[in-house]
Amino acid sequence: MLVRLVYASRATEGMDDALVGSILEQSRKNNPEHGITGILCVHTKGKVFLQALEGGRTAVNRLYWNIVADPRHGEVTLLGYDEIEERRFANWRMGKVDLEKVSLSSILRYSDNADLDPYSLSGRGALSLLEELVDSAAIVSRESG
Ligand code: FAD
Repeated sequence: MLVRLVYASRATEGMDDALVGSILEQSRKNNPEHGITGILCVHTKGKVFLQALEGGRTAVNRLYWNIVADPRHGEVTLLGYDEIEERRFANWRMGKVDLEKVSLSSILRYSDNADLDPYSLSGRGALSLLEELVDSAAIVSRESG
């Protein structure tokens, strides 16, 4: 059975290229082996992560517990968890989007002001934003699985 999990979290220290790079490297190493695909959005100024994970229920649950225990971030908040018929991010072992590069109109569609706060999004709103980012090719770093 396939599931999709969406969460937001905040980096405990500053968020820089080294931190994001090491997370992407781990993701791209581990995720194919466990059948996991997804997308990682980063908002450097707000030190916020927004991530969608898709895959088998056991693999996604296991990874989520690893991620929750990771000391590089905190305030991990589950925004959505659904059983799905098919993957939406099937082509990404783990894509990366910089939320600061997303157009204002995209942000305003899902946020009540121009400063996107992923914690204020509903699960459905977070997924819609992620889908729009994929459709508008806003992925700044991708690696096909
Ligand atoms: P190890 O301790 O060497 O590996 C852990 C063990 O668990 C290995 O045997 C590995 O094969 C196994 N394992 C890993 N994933 C699964 C799984 N899904 N099901 C069953 N067994 C598994 N890490 C990722 O791998 N993918 C991500 O998408 C990801 N996203 C992250 C996003 C954020 C914002 C942050 C802060 C961290 C993220 N991480 C992700 C890192 C994660 O928190 C752990 O640090 C990482 O998974 C540990 O992997 P490792 O190989 O370095 O550790």
